[in-house]
Amino acid sequence: MRHHGVRARRHHGLVPVLEPHPVGRLATVTHHLDDLRDPVVLSHGPAVHQQPVALLRLHRLIPPLGRPVPMAVCATGHKSRLGHPAARARAAAGEPPDNGRMPELPDVESFRRTLASCAQDRRIERVRVADAGVLHGVSARRFRDRLRGRTFAPPERHGKWLLAPTGPGEDGPTLLLHFGMTGRLLCCTPDDPPHRHDRVTFTLDDGRCELRYRDLRKLRGLWLADGPPDSPSATHVMGRQGPDAASVDRAALTEALSGRRGGLKSALMNQSVLAGLGNLLVDEILWRARLHPTRPAGRLGDDDLRHLHSALRRAVRDSAKAGHVPARPSWLTGHRDTPDPRCPRCHTALRRTRVAGRTTVWCPQCQQY
Ligand SMILES: [Zn+2]
Repeated sequence: MRHHGVRARRHHGLVPVLEPHPVGRLATVTHHLDDLRDPVVLSHGPAVHQQPVALLRLHRLIPPLGRPVPMAVCATGHKSRLGHPAARARAAAGEPPDNGRMPELPDVESFRRTLASCAQDRRIERVRVADAGVLHGVSARRFRDRLRGRTFAPPERHGKWLLAPTGPGEDGPTLLLHFGMTGRLLCCTPDDPPHRHDRVTFTLDDGRCELRYRDLRKLRGLWLADGPPDSPSATHVMGRQGPDAASVDRAALTEALSGRRGGLKSALMNQSVLAGLGNLLVDEILWRARLHPTRPAGRLGDDDLRHLHSALRRAVRDSAKAGHVPARPSWLTGHRDTPDPRCPRCHTALRRTRVAGRTTVWCPQCQQY
């Protein structure tokens, strides 16, 4: 009965944890939960599937969601009681169980838009580094000195990297951001209360906005390159990157996959083959293209490649527009975390296996090997 009690309490010294059950409107719920300033420790358990809304409302944590959400938040309350070490690590990161929700190209694209609308053409008045643990290859002092007084130029994105060149001039340093599993970029006002996971804050010259890098788990973070985004310094930080998944054409995709002996999923997840895709998008794309995740990547026929490219372009375009991979009813993503997941195309029960080290959802009817 370790996980079954409905309790939500805080423990001293314990990082607040939010761990919604991988069922139902997870994205909506985590979105609401994400900005909580005073969360409680939540975990999932089979005994409380229908009770979380009441529990959450008790704590005034989220606005009413309109209808009960099948999300279990049975609280274990204590880190050591969250079960498997991997689950504990995910819980400590504020992540849902391993259903693959972490920033992919669409999320980074939405952070790029945030940066552009919040900070582009603005001078950086002040840089506050609350936690130098998110800085890589640069000290907090040097980071501040190099960026203070400079202006944010139009930001760019390649794969899961956000690149923020700075002016004036063409040769200013570029801020590079990689959001890892839990990073985000927010446009706040100086009056917005500080959040305990705001690691770096840029105060801008108009005095109305500030840009905050918020990250619970600090797996990746911020780098500073000496030159513009195409400088050797910046490309060195990013490492080898394949063509960006949002703009890759069919010839470049064919070229990227040709000669690869591994499986399709593993190739598409590999940022040096194709940049930007993560677990959710790859599953979505392969399902749309009716391709089995372990098919050898280098041996696709022309038709397969055509389907793959068109599925990829459409899934990436629609997700980028939404700013995340949307869990729509017509999408595989809309079903993968439901209690009895079925293919939205043929209603066959979906399979869930581990491919390329990640939880992979696919339809055995539509995606035959
Ligand atoms: Zn199917």
